[in-house]
Amino acid sequence: MRAVDVITRKRDGKALSRQEIVFFIEGFTRGEIPDYQAAAWAMAIVWRGMTQEETLYLTQAMAESGDQLDLSAIAPNTVDKHSTGGVGDKTTLVVEPLVAACGVPVGKMSGRGLGFSGGTLDKMESIPGFHVDLSREAFVEQLLRTGVVLAGQSADLAPADGKLYALRDVTGTVPSIPLIASSVMSKKLAAGASSIVLDVKVGRGAFMPTVAEAARLARLMVEIGKRAGRRVVAVISDMNQPLGNAVGNALEVKEALDTLRGGGPGDFREHCLVIGAHMLVLGRRAATLREARRQLIAALENGAGLAKFRELVAAQGGDVRAIDEPSRLPRAPLVSVVVSPATGYVRQVDALEVGLTAVELGAGRALKTDLIDPGVGVVVHHKVGDRVHKGDPLFTVHAADPAKRDLAIERLLRAHSLTSRPVDPLPHFYRTLR
Ligand code: URA
Repeated sequence: MRAVDVITRKRDGKALSRQEIVFFIEGFTRGEIPDYQAAAWAMAIVWRGMTQEETLYLTQAMAESGDQLDLSAIAPNTVDKHSTGGVGDKTTLVVEPLVAACGVPVGKMSGRGLGFSGGTLDKMESIPGFHVDLSREAFVEQLLRTGVVLAGQSADLAPADGKLYALRDVTGTVPSIPLIASSVMSKKLAAGASSIVLDVKVGRGAFMPTVAEAARLARLMVEIGKRAGRRVVAVISDMNQPLGNAVGNALEVKEALDTLRGGGPGDFREHCLVIGAHMLVLGRRAATLREARRQLIAALENGAGLAKFRELVAAQGGDVRAIDEPSRLPRAPLVSVVVSPATGYVRQVDALEVGLTAVELGAGRALKTDLIDPGVGVVVHHKVGDRVHKGDPLFTVHAADPAKRDLAIERLLRAHSLTSRPVDPLPHFYRTLR
């Protein structure tokens, strides 16, 4: 079999066999199929799509590219969660320790920034010393000892997704239902949790532009999880405006810490409570979402969630002093507050534009080899529906150089639109699929 023939068949819209998919993923993981062929193949999948069967084969091949943890005997109630990618989506940083603090082990494999969307691994690595490259043994040992793990793809765990994900980030091959479903679910299957909560984003700052497409992606991932014997819930949530206020790696860590201290933006706190409640119910720690929510609020109020975050950071080599002294987190040298040019109601804060601006500032990558700048980013000060007065702070740009700052300000002014008529707030959630 030759890689070029598998690419050509997909380019021509043919359904690939399990053997062809396994051949491609194994060859790519071993380095025998080069990046340029994998990128061409991914682009063919973006255009031609995949059947459900092909997507299942791709997910299995990527999950099997490294070790697959079986936690059923040692930590049977472990839960995991995953978002399909958004702007300002720092939910994992709050719900993972919070749910673990409520007594449900959370063993999670996350991703890096992808296109305009941020990545949990990049965010957590802005804590000095924090590392995410865990072996299979380290993952299991930490899960049993602390009840909380946040790993990246490694040579041991889902290596095929690690390679393909980094390539998709910089080749315009992210927005594809089979590629997203197989990427997300291969990590979830490899990490071994029995229960998985999927947060499927929809809107301007998501890879799925409509609720119908988000539902298609959600159904496919739930089906993949079910066939692998996992309990899965998917919620479809709004991503037309950034989640919370902060967009950018260290800025988001700071906002997550504020939330774990009981503060934080209202929309973000609410999001964490809903996702966390599904995790507690799936993890059999609460009988109802209402009871789960009560436990989560208690863990926010009594500091147990923050203490668990500290344990997570310490376990993975991070400097825990950064938790209490945010000045130890990376900071951008240039901070500019931009005020509203008019009075009115906020009609739009375009999440895609905000995400792309953060990437341009250096919070994401244009090339696989790019280093991200953890200090840069944007803080938006308003949500759709807010009343804003001329001269009120509208957003703050954290930049490393003046030219990029000026471009960011222009772009962010265009991303905001105001109107004289009252505007309804956007919904948080659209649907739940089980
Ligand atoms: N998250 C992932 O892990 N993979 C994708 O392709 C998109 C979001």
